[in-house]
Amino acid sequence: MTDAVATKTNLIGMPREKLAAFFVARGEKRFRADQLMKWLYHSGVSDLQEMTNLSRSLRDSLAVDTEFRFPAVSWSHVSEDGTRKWLINIEGGGSVETVFIPDGKRGTLCVSSQVGCTLDCSFCSTGKQGFQRNLSAAEIIAQVWIARAALAESGEDGPALTNVVFMGMGEPLLNLDAVLDAVSIMTDDLGYGLSKRRVTVSTAGVVPGIVRLAKEADVSLALSLHAPTDALRNDLVPVNRKYPIAQVLNACRDYLGNTAARKSITVEYTLIAGVNDQPEHAEALAELLADFPCKLNLIPFNPFPNSGYRRPSNNAVRAFHARMHQHGFITTIRTTRGDDISAACGQLVGAVQDRTRRSDRYIAKVAAQEAGASVRAC
Ligand code: SAH
Repeated sequence: MTDAVATKTNLIGMPREKLAAFFVARGEKRFRADQLMKWLYHSGVSDLQEMTNLSRSLRDSLAVDTEFRFPAVSWSHVSEDGTRKWLINIEGGGSVETVFIPDGKRGTLCVSSQVGCTLDCSFCSTGKQGFQRNLSAAEIIAQVWIARAALAESGEDGPALTNVVFMGMGEPLLNLDAVLDAVSIMTDDLGYGLSKRRVTVSTAGVVPGIVRLAKEADVSLALSLHAPTDALRNDLVPVNRKYPIAQVLNACRDYLGNTAARKSITVEYTLIAGVNDQPEHAEALAELLADFPCKLNLIPFNPFPNSGYRRPSNNAVRAFHARMHQHGFITTIRTTRGDDISAACGQLVGAVQDRTRRSDRYIAKVAAQEAGASVRAC
């Protein structure tokens, strides 16, 4: 890349206020931001010369020092069940993945917020890759752009992108500046216009991030709990040593506050055979969450090579589900989707980076053995 290219301002990923300030600073009217956003996010146009309601002189001046810079897709695939996956190259090395999970006419895009992750949850393959860097707002919003473009190509009758979950690689609350800018574009009428409730930020429990998110955004929140006691959670989710369960649950309660839009937290619980899937764990979880406004999402562990963990049997998953249900919790079991392309949670980039393809074969074998027990998609 030349220096000239590197110093151009990337207009992708700038939320409305920043874009308006950018135009005002060059002596233009604020509404230029609205026009540009509509071209980009409503029409999917990223060629300045096609933006015909911007004057020729403005287009020419923008061409000198701005650009629309997207990361490159290095690999994409559509699974037999309609799940789509993109592997996206990130400048400076590394890649992240984005997964689209259709559900009738709707669909959920699972986006990444970091290349790798610092949190090192013991059962997550992303943590095993270490941390490279935060994604920019442009790199996050580009994942929506890429998915929308692919869905548009496959025709009007297909599923629409109606929901976004930050459940790909990374911890979104440790990259909050970029995540907030991207969320703003996702939910802005001049951006992707998604309902705030249909954008979900998922966290391992980074308390200061939850506090800030409460002040600066109005989206749905998911908490990756995975254990009913601090002793067990310290092992599975090491950030628990810094922000123990009681503190995290309090921050989530405060997050809900009194707003009508935020009614409950989604509590995610990855079920790992013999580790946190026993009846006593279900009982302790029911007690812990008795007064906590939540819906419970059980995720059978998705195996990856050398994880040291096993996925519970379908019977064990159903038994855990039944117990929580008996205690009155709205509980779903997350379907493993896109198994044939390694698009299930926690399996994403690793399998592709493994040049020997050993992990693909391993995952395919385990998936074939353990398919089923599914209620809802990720
Ligand atoms: N850092 C955020 C979001 C990324 S992970 C968070 O922790 O919430 C999205 C979800 O997938 C989390 O609940 C995570 O714990 C879960 N997950 C990660 N690896 C998994 C695996 N191998 N099997 C099942 N769930 C996994």
